[in-house]
Amino acid sequence: MATDFTKYIASVPDYPEKGIMFRDISPLMADGQAFHDATDEIVTYAKGKGVEMVVGPEARGFIVGCPVAYDMGIGFAPARKQGKLPRETVKATYDLEYGTSALYMHKDAIKPGQKVLVTDDLLATGGTIGATIQLVEDLGGIVVGTAFLIELSDLHGRDKLKGYDIFSLMKY
Ligand code: 5GP
Repeated sequence: MATDFTKYIASVPDYPEKGIMFRDISPLMADGQAFHDATDEIVTYAKGKGVEMVVGPEARGFIVGCPVAYDMGIGFAPARKQGKLPRETVKATYDLEYGTSALYMHKDAIKPGQKVLVTDDLLATGGTIGATIQLVEDLGGIVVGTAFLIELSDLHGRDKLKGYDIFSLMKY
């Protein structure tokens, strides 16, 4: 029977601010079997897409993406906040509720034409993953899929990712 991963998600009301229901993935990460099984599902998806490289935004995109890359024997490249990467970078900005933020990748992180899977823990409005996709494409990579543990359907991140394939393990 398929694993019900939602029992490993802690739903925390009013975090980080009143009115927000935060979906905490740490119980899933803390359970060896659940983490393994969740990773396996994403690996199966990635293999079907012919993925050659995994990219994830800090910090929980690393938690989801790195074990996938390890299992497949392929590389992982991080998308990071300002001031974290020591060599030449490319930058993509995205909108937050108030203001903007930016993500960066090393200029040599992706080989042109490489088939990339972009991972994060959760898809909400799609801003974070949209910026990550832009970085990969600026570097000449081809985003063949995106994978998340959780998708918050009400926030319509999918609408922002039109034309990209989306895999999510759980929907709220
Ligand atoms: P978006 O950019 O799609 O609006 O928001 C997604 C980003 O915010 C992800 O990088 C994710 O880590 C973080 N995020 C927003 N809400 C939640 C939440 O309820 N739970 C978790 N685990 N992450 C969240």
